[in-house]
Amino acid sequence: MITSRFEYIRVKDVEEAHRLFTEFEGQAVYLSGGSDLVPRMKLGLQKPKAVIDLKSIDSLKSVEDQGDWIRIGSLVTLFDLKRNQLVRNLLPALQESLEATSCETLQMRGTIGGNLVQDCRCLFYNQSEFWRKSKGFCLKMGGGKCNAVPGAKNCFANYCSDNAISLFTLTAQLELLGPNGSRRIPLDELYTNKSDNPFNLQPGEIITSVFVPKKKTIGGYEKLRIRGAIDYPLLGVAFSFADGVGRLAAGAIGPKPIVAEVAQPPQDNIGQAAEGILKQVTPVNNTVVDRDYRKRMIPILAERLVNKVMEGAK
Ligand SMILES: Cc1cc2nc3c(=O)[nH]c(=O)nc-3n(C[C@H](O)[C@H](O)[C@H](O)COP(=O)(O)OP(=O)(O)OC[C@H]3O[C@@H](n4cnc5c(N)ncnc54)[C@H](O)[C@@H]3O)c2cc1C
Repeated sequence: MITSRFEYIRVKDVEEAHRLFTEFEGQAVYLSGGSDLVPRMKLGLQKPKAVIDLKSIDSLKSVEDQGDWIRIGSLVTLFDLKRNQLVRNLLPALQESLEATSCETLQMRGTIGGNLVQDCRCLFYNQSEFWRKSKGFCLKMGGGKCNAVPGAKNCFANYCSDNAISLFTLTAQLELLGPNGSRRIPLDELYTNKSDNPFNLQPGEIITSVFVPKKKTIGGYEKLRIRGAIDYPLLGVAFSFADGVGRLAAGAIGPKPIVAEVAQPPQDNIGQAAEGILKQVTPVNNTVVDRDYRKRMIPILAERLVNKVMEGAK
């Protein structure tokens, strides 16, 4: 499949990226690893006039110990991040979700920033233009109907970032830098809760850093997928525990991950936390497995994970 014509520009700093974004009147997209963007451009799901390549911005490529926080530059690849000593020693839920993301080839290409703002996916959307035309354009393509749920007024595409799920349990924050200034937000505020337009980003805003509290946690990640490599999550469940507080999150089953606190001791209260999450999700048949199966797997993966993590901590 061939992309529509576009201009490709590689930038050296964030200011240049903003200047170009403004020059192209918003008809430009940012490129980091390209492993989400390029397939979408090839399917004709995105047809920008310009692609602004961020990969040469060196200031966004490091992981820093800042005392109370770990600052992860948005261009750090998933592969480098999973091997980072701070992540390995302090953030096992993130280390495991990075390990479970796709395959190592894609981890070497994909960045943490691009991972967090990858587009939502649906079996009826991530298809060729020819295929989509035959079905009729859906809500996410600017059409008037949902091809997954006839008659539905909302889009049900799934947000499939494995690492957003673990970062929710770690109370991560994001630093965003746009043409009109910078802001720091809790990860939760990135999301609109709408699958057809999933992110609360101002025009031209770039994720520059992910911040995670620097404290020792125990935790892990469980992923439901058909094949043990490459596959996107059909459901992801993460758990982190520190200072007597446990957090459980589930994702890839709606427009954003859902998080719940787990009362102590986590092994006895995990069912209640999973139940709280279950009430907030509405999976539909828009993946390769049945919606009820994905839903039923939330408490099963959660219990398996929490028992494994708490047993391992003894
Ligand atoms: C076969 C296959 C399997 C995959 N499996 C998984 C999986 O199991 N789990 C998973 O989580 N992902 C998966 N992915 C998706 C993707 O590979 C990863 O999410 C990757 O981390 C995306 O990062 P990237 O740097 O390549 O993003 P890009 O493709 O460069 O960018 C993704 C989106 O983010 C925007 N963007 C990029 N960087 C920034 C930034 N710093 N600030 C603001 N906007 C930005 C881009 O404009 C684009 O819209 C898979 C992809 C493929 C092709």
